[in-house]
Amino acid sequence: MKPEMAHLIARARRATRAAFGAKGATASVSGIANWMARSFEDELLLTFARARPKAILLQLLILLPVLSSGMFGPSHLFLPAGTFLVGLGLAASLVLADHWPKVSRISAKRGFLGLEVMHGLGWAFLTQNSPLPAAIPDSAFAIFIPVALGGSALVFSSAIRGAMAAQLFPLLLANGLSLLTGTHRLPVDLVCLSIVVIAFFLYLGGRITEATRDHLAIRAEKDALIADLEQAKAHSDEARRRAEELNLAKSRFLATMSHELRTPLNAILGFSEVMEAELLGRHRVKAYRSYARDIHESGQMLLGLIDEVLDLSRIEAGRYELVEEACQLADSVSECAHLLQLRAHSRGVSMMMVDPDLPPIVADERALRQITLNLLSNAIKFTPSGGDISIRVGSVPNGGQFIQVTDTGPSIPAHEIPIILESFGRGSLAVKRAEQGSGLGLPIVRGLVAMHRGEFSIQSREGEGTSVTITLPKDRVLTPPPRPVVERARAAAA
Ligand code: ADP
Repeated sequence: MKPEMAHLIARARRATRAAFGAKGATASVSGIANWMARSFEDELLLTFARARPKAILLQLLILLPVLSSGMFGPSHLFLPAGTFLVGLGLAASLVLADHWPKVSRISAKRGFLGLEVMHGLGWAFLTQNSPLPAAIPDSAFAIFIPVALGGSALVFSSAIRGAMAAQLFPLLLANGLSLLTGTHRLPVDLVCLSIVVIAFFLYLGGRITEATRDHLAIRAEKDALIADLEQAKAHSDEARRRAEELNLAKSRFLATMSHELRTPLNAILGFSEVMEAELLGRHRVKAYRSYARDIHESGQMLLGLIDEVLDLSRIEAGRYELVEEACQLADSVSECAHLLQLRAHSRGVSMMMVDPDLPPIVADERALRQITLNLLSNAIKFTPSGGDISIRVGSVPNGGQFIQVTDTGPSIPAHEIPIILESFGRGSLAVKRAEQGSGLGLPIVRGLVAMHRGEFSIQSREGEGTSVTITLPKDRVLTPPPRPVVERARAAAA
């Protein structure tokens, strides 16, 4: 799991735990915690209020047979008193369930609990005597009511902590009191069984309430996590947008600057060339000629640097446009090798090219030349006199084509490879030998290869030199049309 994700989950958990009153909640999450706690309580109240009408229907279904059998049995006070309390409690609770959002959350909760006690008391009265002992024995009546009531409370009243206890506690109390005062008409073991049944339902209700709260906590954790992720995404989108804007501004700045620099630079290059060639007359001091040459060379270096900066900024800003056409990879590479042959020779480095017969490819030829020139000039620059450079062009097994430039120079330390691939990154060798270079050559190569959907890799091992390979994908290779049958037969005969 990513560390940011783990952090977000931990934050959501802390807030949820704090919402449920766990100790150690930190101040930073108290705002979310309070908000969550409030919404949990609201949600539990809503669940309870929604379940209320269904519970009332079920309790009426239990109450009706009791009442109808009571009409035929001996009259006693428990029946009307119990029925009145149950009816009133249920009706009031129904009204409150309908109107609870209008009163405060705490008053609504207290109201619900009070009404639960009221109709629980009613059931406690009803359990004291079976209205029709001949048809329903007292013993069955004493067990049936707690089971039916406990079952309905389990399903409908466990959303609010204490609601089930409020409903069943009067039954428990009535049984307990009858035992203590010795006024029980049932055998002691039956009264005890009734108490155990009620206690069992209370236990189950408690577990269900916990499970409901856990479920809500998990859902809240998920919601908090989603909210945090959305916020993180919005931040990252904003950061990306800013980075893109900055990149664009940088490219515009570089494009303008390089244009502004090029104009005076061209004048410097032109006039220094005229002075070096002494076109308008000989210098009286000989050193002026070599100064003019130095000015010209420095100007050319500066022009090269400006071009590189401009190219890289265009690639990074996605504004470098490839001019794609069919070309021969081997031809472009050998032209570049030819161009740099003199430089390699003057440094005492030999250059060799392996160039098989390859089908043409679709690519930007100027970019291919830039890639090859950068790789070759690096190889020439870093290979000591007497070293070899081999250039290979060929096909890869999956159908693409590659260029590989391998030299026998000193290797690049593995930890420096990521550095030299960054813009302006230079290796320790270049710094130590004070080699010229801006550290833009390889990033440009990498950018151009990526624009061709190709791959770029550097292999460099201690004592084995450096090998840079670029591979162009198969879909850039043009498959030659099949040769006519006659031609094939002729070729076979030859
Ligand atoms: P530069 O213009 O400075 O050569 P590059 O991006 O082309 O910039 O190269 C970055 C660095 O990579 C160089 O400074 C050098 O340290 C290292 N490097 C590149 N090619 C080679 C090579 N063939 N052999 C050894 N080091 C190399």
